[in-house]
Amino acid sequence: MTDITIALSKGRIFDDTAPLLKAAGIEALDDPESSRKLILDTNRPNVRLVIVRASDVPTYVQYGAADMGIAGKDVLIEHGGAALCQPLDLNIACCRMMVAVPEGFDYESAVRQGARLRIATKYLQTAREHFADKGVHVDLIKLYGSMELAPLVGLADAIVDLVSTGNTLKANNLRAVEEIMPISSRLIINQAALKLKQKTIQPILDAFADAVKQ
Ligand code: AMP
Repeated sequence: MTDITIALSKGRIFDDTAPLLKAAGIEALDDPESSRKLILDTNRPNVRLVIVRASDVPTYVQYGAADMGIAGKDVLIEHGGAALCQPLDLNIACCRMMVAVPEGFDYESAVRQGARLRIATKYLQTAREHFADKGVHVDLIKLYGSMELAPLVGLADAIVDLVSTGNTLKANNLRAVEEIMPISSRLIINQAALKLKQKTIQPILDAFADAVKQ
């Protein structure tokens, strides 16, 4: 039997993926929230899960350390997608990539007047492309978390971040001014693994596709 390694991140993606894995006959033997194990065995002796940071999932799959994985479109755009096959949108962990500003900041006028904006974000690639398409001049400031703080303390005029319920923006007196794109998580497969391990991977892919349709 061919061994398969699947890379996942804890939290939202793991929780939303568990039912899909179950549909493919795969169940983790440990809960990543309570276990400190980074490699989780499953009920199938040839399938194991590796638990990594969300932004590291494409890297593990790109280099073949994992055969497949699940990653958000936000993460995949920043990674660039090298050596990855992306056969399926799983429609999980859905949210929106947005531009947001403090309540008192007149974003629309600033853009109209051709102002140069300082944008704080984790998503440099996405932000660069978005503002280049709009013809807005920006200085991008890379942050690794809590982007919402940046405009409140004068680090940036605006942020580019994921918004789900909008509660985090509201709690920090920010408002969303533009949607850049809808985001969901996708199945990614190492291109070589897809060829060499097709017999084992294809039924998992088919079960995921059926479960997503329901
Ligand atoms: P919310 O308050 O529900 O709008 O959630 C916003 C916060 O959760 C922000 O800090 C986002 O970066 C984060 N977030 C929302 N949705 C996602 C997602 N699908 N994946 C990763 N982070 C998310």
